[in-house]
Amino acid sequence: METRTIVNELRQQTKSERTKKAMAKRETVLKGLGWGMENTQIVTESTHSFEDVEEETGLVCCICGDGYTYKPESCMGIYTFTKPIYLEEEFVGYSTVSHFNVIHFECHNTAMYADSRLKPPKTEWEGAEIRNQYTKCNSLLPLFGPSIPPAVYKQVRYTLPN
Ligand SMILES: [Zn+2]
Repeated sequence: METRTIVNELRQQTKSERTKKAMAKRETVLKGLGWGMENTQIVTESTHSFEDVEEETGLVCCICGDGYTYKPESCMGIYTFTKPIYLEEEFVGYSTVSHFNVIHFECHNTAMYADSRLKPPKTEWEGAEIRNQYTKCNSLLPLFGPSIPPAVYKQVRYTLPN
């Protein structure tokens, strides 16, 4: 037998053993995830499918894309720009405009924290302006969700500008 042939057979044998080991490792990892292998296709052993996923039908957060279907107890708010209007000597009203961009208060707070860690850091409303499709804003108007407990609603921060 020619030396070249012997070397090629040994290389093929080594490659084949490596492939078998890799497939065994892959199968172990997939089983850990509740999945399996059929020939070379990955199949799920789960009974869930994308058809089981319910779509959000109402308002959705501009950060996470979830609404009250998937986060029923997480309060959302509308980015607004609000300024005081002096109606008469003693009466102050507020003028509010909005592009109706909705965000969870927790997503807003997380983004605000991330913005504050940037170099240079952004203020709360500089970052919010970007999330509000580059529209100026200075407040979040809370929206009542169908199943938000009153305690959660009380915790959301809502401050009118001076
Ligand atoms: Zn969100």
